[in-house]
Amino acid sequence: MKEKTQALNDIYQTFEAKTREYKDDTACEKGCGFCCKEAGKIEITTLEGLVIRKAMQGFARSRQKTLTKLFQQEIKKRENNVVAPCPFLMKNNACMIYDVRPFSCRRIYSTHVCTLRNPPMVNRRVMEAADQSIKQLQQLDFNGYSGHLSYILYMLSTPAFLDTYEKGEFKPEEIMEFGKAHKIAINRMMDQGVTA
Ligand code: SF4
Repeated sequence: MKEKTQALNDIYQTFEAKTREYKDDTACEKGCGFCCKEAGKIEITTLEGLVIRKAMQGFARSRQKTLTKLFQQEIKKRENNVVAPCPFLMKNNACMIYDVRPFSCRRIYSTHVCTLRNPPMVNRRVMEAADQSIKQLQQLDFNGYSGHLSYILYMLSTPAFLDTYEKGEFKPEEIMEFGKAHKIAINRMMDQGVTA
């Protein structure tokens, strides 16, 4: 796990280094939070989910309880096609898990100030580098899955799934129904575009 977490951070850092020169024109400012409220979908891998889960375990009980409730509400809203802010977004528009935020949040920025009518604009080179990094993230999480943040965290909160995953085993049949309903992708099959 330690080596995988290190490799995960290496992928994040390599992406940052590769794309820094194209982000000079960023309009993003601390306290904006537009993407965190309007993204609709925050794709993560199970490995990223595990890192986030570990960070959450360090939170005060009350915060953990609030987050559990917010994630349940977010899942319900998604099922009714309602876009909800990310549960990790705080009142001051800062990210509660900034240091371990997933790649979806690291890749996004905008060359202009965003509005609903004018969503984020990203340099093409940054998009290409992000696509490469996503492939690396999925390869690194070879026995894992990719999907929206809330669903992956939900899967990891299920003892049977967590046990299989942490042992490095791969049993997609265990999540077949949930995976199909929530568009969870099997990382090792992503080159063929397969979902669970
Ligand atoms: S994890 Fe953090 S950066 Fe990503 S959408 Fe949520 S609040 Fe925003």
